[in-house]
Amino acid sequence: MADLDLVVSGGTVVTAGDTTKCDIGVKGGRVVVLGEDLGRAAKTIDARGKLVLPGGIDSHVHIDEYPFLGAKSADDFASATRSAACGGTTTVIPFAEQVRGRSLRSTIDEYHRKAEGRAVIDYAFHQILVDPDEQTLGQELPALVEDGYTSFKVYMTYDGMALNDRQILNTLAAARENGAMVMVHAENDHCIRWLTDRLALSGITDLSQYPKMAPSPVEREATHRAITLGQVVDVPILVVHVSASEAMDQIRWAQAKGLQVYGETCPQYLFLTADHIAQPGWEGAKYLCAPVPRDAANQELIWRGLATGVFQVFSSDHAPYRFEGTEGKKAHGPEPHFRHISPGVPGIETRLPLLFSEGVGKGRIDLQTFVALTATNAAKIYGLYPRKGTIAVGSDADLVLWDPAREVTIRHADLHDAMDYTPYEGMRVKGWPVTTISRGEVIWNDGRLSAATGRGQFLRCARPDLARPRAVA
Ligand code: MN
Repeated sequence: MADLDLVVSGGTVVTAGDTTKCDIGVKGGRVVVLGEDLGRAAKTIDARGKLVLPGGIDSHVHIDEYPFLGAKSADDFASATRSAACGGTTTVIPFAEQVRGRSLRSTIDEYHRKAEGRAVIDYAFHQILVDPDEQTLGQELPALVEDGYTSFKVYMTYDGMALNDRQILNTLAAARENGAMVMVHAENDHCIRWLTDRLALSGITDLSQYPKMAPSPVEREATHRAITLGQVVDVPILVVHVSASEAMDQIRWAQAKGLQVYGETCPQYLFLTADHIAQPGWEGAKYLCAPVPRDAANQELIWRGLATGVFQVFSSDHAPYRFEGTEGKKAHGPEPHFRHISPGVPGIETRLPLLFSEGVGKGRIDLQTFVALTATNAAKIYGLYPRKGTIAVGSDADLVLWDPAREVTIRHADLHDAMDYTPYEGMRVKGWPVTTISRGEVIWNDGRLSAATGRGQFLRCARPDLARPRAVA
């Protein structure tokens, strides 16, 4: 064999299937051999004492989108993907967000312009679909699927974005016809509007009221309805950012019936509660997101859902709206009505360490589940497998060297996004990504970021490669 570019030696290699001891040989940015005594290489990295994981795939991130409720995205593709790389993530799938009246094609072109020359890791796109007319579903969507955009997100709530049931049915039918995946933000729009109006009548409109506008049943009902619509059309769906255990129970129920319903949850539903938001003053804005985080008992139920296979995907839902200043959460003034505060929390860099420390470290999930949730399953569901999401001969050499013993106190000052806070400030975690390798290139090592701006490549997604989800208990 010709000399290798890189050998990662002596590590414990972990995939969604196995934990093995072997060396990894890399050439031309891809894994070309797994074995022992791999011989000469231009560069060798000693991974003894480390876990070697597939690079993380963060398949739900908002990067450089249009302002939301007046708040601007603090991150562009450079800062967001740098932050991702430092957190052990080597692929992101952000959203190209359609606005009503605009074509999907011109939308995706615009997002390519935002990412090109900026992203430091590889990226694909989901399309947010807000205008599912005949032209969009009949002409644009099929062409986009052929071109490598195979997932579409729909909203059941939010002004200017919410689709009604008939529009969702039409979208699901187009997805079925073309083999695409539909991601659903499931909350009941009428309930949220009605509760918001009622709360406003009370005259108290500070952010302590925010959690009351969208309680668990609002999420549960919409989740069940999304499942029903998918069943009527006979097409898989993926319910994003599940917060309430009641909503999770609907997914578990559907899976037990044999329906292809997939679930995603996020760090904010394991580590935050509604009390974080409802505290006095402006501090709660740091934790404000949608769906609303619930309570401590709910967190443990969501952990159970991760452990038992109800959820396939664990993503950050990184939504970078700053806490201070006039361009972020205070875009509507210093004491805004709760419905004018942009929902969303940052988390692209802390996703893996949080799940590892509290999940693997505390015995809630095993290493295989950790890898499946953070990389492998998203690669399969969004059509990037096996190029991404595993360590195998022929896969891209996207690797993370993980030090399971390293203890870190999370401080925003040490993170690499363009935000001004992390909701996890001061949290102590054990286990940290010490080296990140993207297509064979070390881009993050021992606290030093060396990723050239714009080195990230666009990834065309194939159609989903779906195993039937089935929770074990
Ligand atoms: Mn989101």
